[in-house]
Amino acid sequence: MSRCFLWICFFHFAVVACQSQAASEQPTVQDTLITGNPTPVSVSTDTLATPYDLNYVMGKFDPTVHPDFVVVDKKYANREGMYLHKDTYAAFQKMHEAALKDGVKLTVISATRNFEAQKRIWEAKWNGERLVKGDENLAKTTPDPKARALKILLYSSMPSSSRHHWGTDLDINDLSLEYFEQPEGKKMYNWMQQHAAKYGFCQPYSPKGEARPQGYEEEKWHWSYLPVAKPLTGLAARHLKDEYLTGFLGASEAAKIGVVRNYVLGINQACL
Ligand SMILES: [Zn+2]
Repeated sequence: MSRCFLWICFFHFAVVACQSQAASEQPTVQDTLITGNPTPVSVSTDTLATPYDLNYVMGKFDPTVHPDFVVVDKKYANREGMYLHKDTYAAFQKMHEAALKDGVKLTVISATRNFEAQKRIWEAKWNGERLVKGDENLAKTTPDPKARALKILLYSSMPSSSRHHWGTDLDINDLSLEYFEQPEGKKMYNWMQQHAAKYGFCQPYSPKGEARPQGYEEEKWHWSYLPVAKPLTGLAARHLKDEYLTGFLGASEAAKIGVVRNYVLGINQACL
């Protein structure tokens, strides 16, 4: 091999190495979302005092240190350490007092879950560590990834697409429709149907049917505080894309299923 040829080889190697280094230094959309700075689009809601961006919508923040979040007092919850957006919490407290006067106890059983918390739930269902309804281990019963994702999506959101990220949504009293067939659950749900709107709350996962053909199954326990949630739904409608849902098992199914269109936006029209 001639010395000249060796120099050409070395030069070529050096150029390729430099190019690949430059490529790896270029932040991707995924990187910017995970680091949280900067966001791929700089957007804020029209009606909220604090501008929220897509990272917020996708749950890529820590509610325990976010200035707009407060811890839910044990008096309103079934356990310590849950967080809500402060406006949601203030409205919930008023609703809670009013319900108590009518003999209805509203207990928060789940509140804010950020991306990491939702990822733990999603992946536990994905890999069979957590059984889904009917004690089914999806890793064993459903090898096809799209079919598996669709089964989880009956009741659980893909990370980055959950309204529980926003601090506006909470689950109350019980996570089973059977509870709401019992006298206590019926009374609670009837009270919410009559009064929740006065306090700004709406049931996003109303019965499936003509009025709501797509999305999660009916959830009588899940309520959303609209003054904060509405502009965030609008932000998601304008800017959230299935391709941004990354960083968890089964993420590649998001675009095939149309998670943003069918699930994030597949809500009760009254909550839009
Ligand atoms: Zn919920």
